[in-house]
Amino acid sequence: MDKKIILITGSSRGIGRQIALTLAAQGHIIIANYNKSEEHANNLKQEALRKNQQIDLYKADVSNRDEVKKMIDFIINKYKRIDVLINNAGISSFNLFTDITDEEWNMVLNTNLYSAFCVTQETIPNMIQNKSGCIINMSSIWGIVGSSCESLYSISKAALDAMTKSLAKELGPSNIRVNSIAPGFIDTDMNKNISLDTINSIKDETPLGKIGSTSSIAKCVNWLIEDDFTTGQIISINGGWVIT
Ligand code: NAP
Repeated sequence: MDKKIILITGSSRGIGRQIALTLAAQGHIIIANYNKSEEHANNLKQEALRKNQQIDLYKADVSNRDEVKKMIDFIINKYKRIDVLINNAGISSFNLFTDITDEEWNMVLNTNLYSAFCVTQETIPNMIQNKSGCIINMSSIWGIVGSSCESLYSISKAALDAMTKSLAKELGPSNIRVNSIAPGFIDTDMNKNISLDTINSIKDETPLGKIGSTSSIAKCVNWLIEDDFTTGQIISINGGWVIT
């Protein structure tokens, strides 16, 4: 298997962190982007080093164009190419639609959507030049079916899925595949305030009878990287909780 240069946004914690460890274990070179969680990011690098794996850390707020440009320039200067981009950074948001402020709207859309637009736009000239690339956008089941009190989050993920489908058509002729992974409930910090009762109800409603782990998502990412004929798809990993 060839060693790929892989950028994962928002990989200090949660799903991104597990993707970084899984792909590093496959021998790939990982650039793990983070923003606020420096200590978590350093732990990730140390964990990889103990296993003789390579993870480079890069601190950048991916909703900031200047920081994104510097990050992409750093990677291309150092490695000459980006083979795989995983737009994973994201934040949740819970509010009644009527109570969403402009500030919250901007924060969620900038972090969940503009960031993917920005990082992808800065990355694809290199992929087009290489006539090869794989882009994976971390979406959510709520982007597919919508969620009460999470409309803003759902809007950000539905728009991300529209970006996936459109870009798959635009970039397919350049041999660049673009897909979304739309997880269901995954056990990470993002869900740390969800009550045990709610988690148990979700398990009851889920045909596989459990909530998801970060490694379920990382396995799908690994498969998508190896694949050569899947593009424009929204792949939902949710234990059957949502079947469309
Ligand atoms: P998490 O544990 O809260 O981790 C979020 C990650 O995003 C952190 O590493 C954080 O980095 C990073 N991040 C946030 N804003 C950033 C920014 N402006 N610039 C760079 N990095 C930023 O969340 P998670 O559960 O792993 O979620 C990862 C992705 O999966 C998100 O897109 C989320 O919407 C999606 N998802 C999660 C679930 C779930 O149930 N957990 C379900 C569906 C979809 P710092 O802490 O360093 O700032």
